[in-house]
Amino acid sequence: MRSSKQQFDVLIVGGGLAGLALACALRDSRLRIGLIEQRAPTRPAGWDARVYAISPANVDFLRQIGVWKHLASERMAAIQRMEIAGDAHSRLEFSAYETGVAELGWVLESSLMACELWEGIKRQSNLTLFTPAAPAAIDIGADAASLTLADGKVLSARLLVAADGRDSWLRQAAGLAATNTDYGELGVVANFDCQHAHRGVARQWFRADGVLAWLPLAGNRLSIVWSTPEAHAHRLLSLSPDALCHHVAAAGQHTLGEFQLLTPAAAFPLRLMRVPRTYTTRLALIGDAAHGIHPLSGHGINLGFQDAKVLSALLLGTPEWQDIGDERLLARYQRERREETLLLQGVTHALQQLYRHRLPGLQTLRNLGMNVTNRLPVLKNTLVRYAIGAL
Ligand SMILES: Cc1cc2nc3c(=O)[nH]c(=O)nc-3n(C[C@H](O)[C@H](O)[C@H](O)COP(=O)(O)OP(=O)(O)OC[C@H]3O[C@@H](n4cnc5c(N)ncnc54)[C@H](O)[C@@H]3O)c2cc1C
Repeated sequence: MRSSKQQFDVLIVGGGLAGLALACALRDSRLRIGLIEQRAPTRPAGWDARVYAISPANVDFLRQIGVWKHLASERMAAIQRMEIAGDAHSRLEFSAYETGVAELGWVLESSLMACELWEGIKRQSNLTLFTPAAPAAIDIGADAASLTLADGKVLSARLLVAADGRDSWLRQAAGLAATNTDYGELGVVANFDCQHAHRGVARQWFRADGVLAWLPLAGNRLSIVWSTPEAHAHRLLSLSPDALCHHVAAAGQHTLGEFQLLTPAAAFPLRLMRVPRTYTTRLALIGDAAHGIHPLSGHGINLGFQDAKVLSALLLGTPEWQDIGDERLLARYQRERREETLLLQGVTHALQQLYRHRLPGLQTLRNLGMNVTNRLPVLKNTLVRYAIGAL
C-alpha cells in the first residue's frame, strides 16, 4: 500500500539564513530535502536595515556552497580595520594587514544573502519547498520523524532540523530546553549616507548608554547597531531623521562628518539564549534556534553558518546504510559546535556585563585591559584570528 506521507531524508523547518545555507550545502547529495518556511524573503526598495558583518571563515563557506559569487559586489564593503574605544580613552585597534589577512570581514545586507540563497534552493533538484507553510505537530518514532503541517499535509524524514529562529517552534515541540537572559536592551539599527569616506574602518564605542557599532557599508554609507537600554532605544526611535543623524554622528565625534538618513531606524530586543542540548533523536538545532548572542561581537549568523557547515559535512560524510537521525551522529554535531558557541557567548556576555555596570574600579579595570591588549601584538593577533574564524 502506498503511504500518504511524503518522505524525505532531511526536513528543515525555517528558511532564514541558517536553514537556507544548510539546504544549499546539501545540494549535490543523494539526500531528499524538504524545507518549510512561513514566508519567502523579500528585498526592500532601498537598503535593508538588517546588515551583517560576515567573517572570512563564513565567506569561504558561502563560496564553497556557490552563493558568494552571485552576490552583488557593489552592495558589499570589506572591513580593513577595526577601532574599538572604551569609556575612558582606552583603545583597541586591529587591521587586516597586521593580522595577515586580506580583510577582517565583509558587511552586507541580510536580505541580499537570503534572496540569493532562496533563488538557489528553488532550482535545487533534490529539494521540495513548502511555503507559505508551518508545522503543527511532530511525532518522533524509532525509524522516522513525521511532521504534520498546518494545512494537514504529513511529511516524514529521517532527520528534522530546527532552523526556525530563536523562538523555535520545533525546539519547543521536541522538548529541548532553552535558558533566556533578557539584556533589557534593544539593538537599534539604521543606515546613513556619510560625508566622508569610511575607508573600510569598522568602529565601536563602549559608552555609558550602551555599545555603538558603525559598520562600513558599500560606498560612503554606514550601518549602525546601537545596543542600548530600552528607554534610550525608544528615545532614539522617536527622533526626527535630522536629529537622529546629528545624534549618531556626534556619538562618533563626527569622525565621518555629517550624516543623512538612508534607512529609518528599527529595533530588535536582545537576549542571551543558552541551549544545553542541541539535538535529540532525529532532530538537530541550528542557527538562532540553537543559540542567542548579544550583537556587540556580530557573531549571531556567523555561528549559524558554521552550524550549517558542520552539520552538512557530517550528513554528506555518512554512508548510505547509516542512519542520519542516529543520536550518536547528532551528538558529534553538538560536540563540534559546542566550544565555539559557548566561548563566544561567554566572552560577549562578559564584555556586555563589564561595560554595563557602573561599579567603582570596574571602569579602570576594563580600560586598562583594553589598552594592555592593544600593546600586546601576539594576544591581539590571536584574539582577532579567533574572532574571524582563522584559528
Ligand atoms: C540588532 C542585531 C544585529 C545583528 N548583527 C549581526 C551581525 O553583524 N553579524 C551576525 O553574524 N549576526 C548578527 N545578528 C544576528 C542575526 O540576526 C541572527 O543570528 C540571524 O538572523 C539568525 O538566522 P537564523 O536563520 O538562525 O534565524 P532567523 O533569521 O530567525 O530565521 C528563522 C526563519 O524561520 C522561519 N520560521 C520561524 N518559525 C517558523 C515556523 N513555525 N514555520 C515555518 N517557518 C518558520 C522564519 O520565517 C525565518 O525565515 C544581529 C542581530 C540583531 C538583533
